[in-house]
Amino acid sequence: MKAEIFSIGTELLMGELTDTNASWIASRLPPLGIQLQWMSIIGDSLDMLSEAFQRGLQRSDIIFTTGGLGPTQDDLTREAVAQALGETLTVQEEVVRGLEKYFQGRGMTMPSHNIKQAHLIPSAQFIRNRNGTAPGWWVESKGKIIVCMPGPPGEMHPIWDEEVAPRLREMVDEEVTVTRNIKTLGMSEAAIDEEISEFFGQENPYLGIYSKPDGIHLRVIARAKDEARARELIQPVEEAINQRLGPYIWGHDDETPEQSLGQALLEQGLSLATMESVTGGLLANSISEVPESCSYFKGGVVAFSKESMLAHGVPADILVRFGEASQETANAMASAARESSGADFGIGLAGVLGPAEQEGKAPGQIYIAIAADKEIREFQLRVPPRRLVIKRRAANTALTELRKMISAGVGAAR
Ligand code: ATP
Repeated sequence: MKAEIFSIGTELLMGELTDTNASWIASRLPPLGIQLQWMSIIGDSLDMLSEAFQRGLQRSDIIFTTGGLGPTQDDLTREAVAQALGETLTVQEEVVRGLEKYFQGRGMTMPSHNIKQAHLIPSAQFIRNRNGTAPGWWVESKGKIIVCMPGPPGEMHPIWDEEVAPRLREMVDEEVTVTRNIKTLGMSEAAIDEEISEFFGQENPYLGIYSKPDGIHLRVIARAKDEARARELIQPVEEAINQRLGPYIWGHDDETPEQSLGQALLEQGLSLATMESVTGGLLANSISEVPESCSYFKGGVVAFSKESMLAHGVPADILVRFGEASQETANAMASAARESSGADFGIGLAGVLGPAEQEGKAPGQIYIAIAADKEIREFQLRVPPRRLVIKRRAANTALTELRKMISAGVGAAR
C-alpha cells in the first residue's frame, strides 16, 4: 500500500512552525506494512490543497493529512477534500450538539464558526477527537483512503494510536517492517563493530550503527509477514547484542536518557540531586521532563560562577587549587548536591562552555562526577566546542552513566 503525507498550514511554509507531525507518522508506517512515498507541506490555499489531493489520489493508495481542521476561514482541509472528490459538505446535527456540549463543559458558548467542524461529505466518517474540537475524517472513495487529522500533536497522536492505527492494522495485508533500537554509551563505534561484526551485512534482519548525541545506537530492522514473525527475527540478534554489550546499553527504542534513568531510580527507590555549571540548567531540565521525576529528583543548582559554587558548598580551597573547570570541582559539586539534599546520588557537572579558554582549558572540556554512598565516579569528555553540543553531551553522559551504575548494582543506601 503506497502512502503520502500532507502537512497543512502556511505557518509551516513560513518557517514559523517545524513539521514534526510528518516524521512522527512516517516512523509508524513501516510496522504497518505501509510504504511511504511522498511528504508534502501545503499552505492554506483551497486551490493548492485541492490540486494536491487530486494528484495524491492518482499516485497513492492512502493520504494522511494533519492540520487545517480548525474553525477559522483558513482551515480548508475539509473543503479541499470535498472539492477534489466533487462532493458537497453538509452539517451533521449530532456533531454540532457534541461540540456545544464540549464548550458547555468548559463554561463557554460555542462560537458560531465552530459549526465548520461539524461538516461532512458522503464518503467521509468522523474520527473521534477526545482532546479537542476538531474531529478527524476517514474518507474512502474509489478504492482510495484519505485520513485527515488535526494539527496539534497532543490531539493527533492519541487519534492515531486509538483510532487510525487499529483500522490500518486490520486493513493492510503486506509485509511489515519492525525496528528495534538499542542505545549504548561508553564504547566507540569501531569497538562495537568489532564485537558484533558477524551481524552486519545481513539483509533480514538488517543491522545499522549510528552515532547520536546520546551515544551509539544500533538499529535492528526485520521484515516479515506479521509483527510477531518480524520480532522473532530480531530476537537472536538482540540477545547477542545484550550479551556482548550489556554494561554499555542504557535504553531502547524512543527512550531518552532521562526516562531510562528515571525508570531505574523509581525501580530501586533511589533519589538524585544535581549541581551543574557548564550545562546551565539543561541537566535539571532534562530530569524534570519525566512526569514521575518529582518522586526521585530532590533538586538542582545551576552554579554558573565561582560565587555560586561557594554559596552552595564547594570548598574554597578546591576552587583555588584546581579552578572552576576541573574534575576536583565537579567531585565537590556532586558531593555538595548529595549532602545538602539528602539524596542517594549527586551529579556534579563542570567544564568549559566557551567561547574563550578558561583556566588554560579549551571549550568543550567536560568534567562529570557522580557521588554515591561510598564512592565518586569520574568522567571526562572532550566534545566539539559548540554550546548546544557541549550541554547535550555533558547532560546525556551524566544521565546515562548514572543509569549504567544503577544497573551494575551501585546502590546508595543512606
Ligand atoms: P486546531 O483545531 O487547533 O486549529 P488544526 O487541525 O486546524 O487544529 P492547525 O490550525 O493547522 O491545526 O495547527 C494548529 C497547531 O497544531 C499549530 O499551531 C501547531 O502548534 C500544531 N501543528 C500543526 N501542524 C503541525 C505539524 N505539521 N507539525 C507539528 N505541529 C503542528
